[in-house]
Formats: sequence, structure tokens, C-alpha cells
Amino acid sequence: MALTLTDLQRPEGFERLVLAEDAEAGLTALICLHSTALGPAAGGCRMWPYASREAAIHDVTRLARGMTYKNAMAGLGLGGGKAVIIGDARRDKTPAMMRAFGRAVEALKGSYWTAEDVGISPEDMAHAATETRHAVGLAGASGDPSPWTAEGVFRCLRVGATRVFGADDLAGKRVLVQGLGHVGLSLAEKVASAGARLMVTDINEAAMTEAATRLGAAVCAPDQVFAQQMDIFAPCALGGVLTAETAGALGARLVCGAANNQLASPDVAALLAARGITYLPDYVVNAGGIISVASEIHGHSDAWRLERLCAIAGRVSEMLAEAAATGRETTAVADGMVEQMLALPRRAA
Ligand code: NAD
Repeated sequence: MALTLTDLQRPEGFERLVLAEDAEAGLTALICLHSTALGPAAGGCRMWPYASREAAIHDVTRLARGMTYKNAMAGLGLGGGKAVIIGDARRDKTPAMMRAFGRAVEALKGSYWTAEDVGISPEDMAHAATETRHAVGLAGASGDPSPWTAEGVFRCLRVGATRVFGADDLAGKRVLVQGLGHVGLSLAEKVASAGARLMVTDINEAAMTEAATRLGAAVCAPDQVFAQQMDIFAPCALGGVLTAETAGALGARLVCGAANNQLASPDVAALLAARGITYLPDYVVNAGGIISVASEIHGHSDAWRLERLCAIAGRVSEMLAEAAATGRETTAVADGMVEQMLALPRRAA
């Protein structure tokens, strides 16, 4: 059976939700366009063994909306979208599947640009790119976005440290990095180089052992994160890690990490603030990867990419100052900034 695209009922406030299926290639994917108000939708493709189609729809819509906010905040002239492929990346992924996914992206005629996310590598994107002009983050072009994400998070972490601890010096600070994947391991290296007391956790034992031996990190079992005392918590695994319960137990004063949708629900922001924990909104601090991808979409130079990356930390600094001056939560300040931008007409990057 050839590729079929079916428009599903889109949730209120979303532009499009498409189911892409190609049985021969083993592809079942969902592509969500949240907003193209500021430009074509852009956001990575995640592969995950979702328990149901509903679970995949829940994830792709949350992630697509997050991309609208992230891309607007980073000033990229891009809207928000995301794709998820249902399946186990280690077991089910094939070049044929990625090529079928590329055909699905191409069928959307440039309204959606795709790149890597959890479970998808630059090599996978290269397969997709044989079928679409709208796959980026390719080796030989802007490359893996993860190191850019890690660098952006690290710069924001230092800005946050300045506000919370009075200096951006991380020497001696206890920093727990949760998730030692493409972004988390790179962030852990930077944190260790800055002289912090690095703590790490991952469900992958080998990744923890590597960080312990190579970076001198203390390891923490994945289910013991919220029993630890630390200064800075850097969630770099999956989203939803901060719930009412975990936010109540978290032994940190600053949260700054790469994972998307760290707050299980918006009200967790108030719980963190009430406990004196400064939360740096995920979509603001983790924009480095999409900035890198945007440089490829728009054909911008490395200098543009670096300039945009540096701007993230400046924006976090402004956001923290406004939150302190107004008593509002950092998430409310950030969302307010974006909602103002979204009311603006489309403009070039
Ligand atoms: P990855 O798949 O390379 O790494 C994720 C890591 O988290 C893996 O090592 C995995 O074993 C670990 N993990 C999963 N569940 C865990 C748990 N319960 N406890 C501890 N560890 C756990 O993914 P990545 O590309 O490094 O992305 C990490 C996060 O950052 C994701 O939420 C992703 O959406 C987000 N993000 C990534 C980028 C990027 O450029 N890659 C950009 C923006 C946001």
C-alpha cells in the first residue's frame, strides 16, 4: 500500500493534524501543524513506542504548540509543528520507513520542516531527505542540532545561576543532569568543565557509568532524583518530569534543562515559585537546536546561528528581571512575550 495522508480532527487552536501511513514501509506517523502565523511550521520528528494512537496525538500536539512558542521566542520567522513516528526506534526503524516519512513531509508542500528529535538521528534524516526538500539537521549542512541545544542550555544555566546564587560561577555547585543522551551528555561535559559537582541519572546504565568514569560524576538511580539535595536540576530526558508531587520534593533552587514540556501541567510553575525554585522555561532555554536548524532552512551563516544562540541567554536575563520586578512566574512572563509576538503579522527572519 502506498503512503496515505488523512486529515484528523484538529484540536481547537491548531491548524492541522495529519495521520501518515505506509504499511509496506511500516510507517505510522502523526504530523501536527500548530501555527504558521510567523512562517512555515518547524519542529523535530520523534520516534517513540506510544501505547496508543491517542497517546501519540497527545504528545505531538503538546510538542507542536511548544514549537510555536519556542520558534517565536527565538525570533526565527518560523511557526510551530512536530511529527511523531509510532514505534520502537531501536527495533522498528528502517531506511524505507524514514523515506516514507520524507514523502509525507514533502506532501505537505513546505508548510512543515522536519529535523531530529528523540529516537531520530542525522542518518535517519538523510534517508527522509532523499524524498523531501524539507528535512534539515543533515550531516554536511547544519548537522546534529543537539550540541547547539546543549550550549544554549548551558549559557542559560549560567544566567540563572547569576540570578539565584549571585554569580555565574558553577564551581562547587551540585548540578544533577537527568538523561545522558545527545543533549544531556554534552551539557554534563560543560557543567563538569565549569567545576560543578556533577550528578547524573539515566535509565541506561552504560551512559551513567561512562559519565561517572569520564566526568567524575556521582550517579543517582532514576527513581531517586527527587530524594537528592542539589543546587541545579537539569532535566534532559523526557517531558512531564515536574508534577505537583515531584515539584514539592525537588531539592534544587534552579531548574534549567533541555527536555521539552518539563512541567506536567502549567500550575506546577506556581508550586515551584512558591518553594523559591527558579524555573527557566524549557522552550526558551532549549532553542539552540532549532536555531541551528533554522539557519539551514533560511540559508543563514554560522555567524547568524551564533548570534541567535547568544540572544537566548539575553532573553532569559530579561525574563528573570521582569519576573522579579512583577512577581509573576517566569512561565507567565515568557508566554506573555510570545503571545504578543504572535499577534504580529508575518515577517521575514
Ligand atoms: P536522547 O534520546 O538522545 O536522550 C534522552 C536520554 O534520556 C536517553 O539517554 C535516555 O536513556 C534517557 N532517559 C529516558 N527516560 C529517562 C528517565 N526516566 N530517567 C533518566 N533518563 C531517562 O534525546 P536528546 O536529543 O538528548 O533530547 C533530550 C530532551 O531534550 C528531549 O526531551 C528532547 O525533546 C529535548 N530537546 C532536544 C533537542 C535536541 O537538539 N536534541 C532540542 C530541544 C529539546
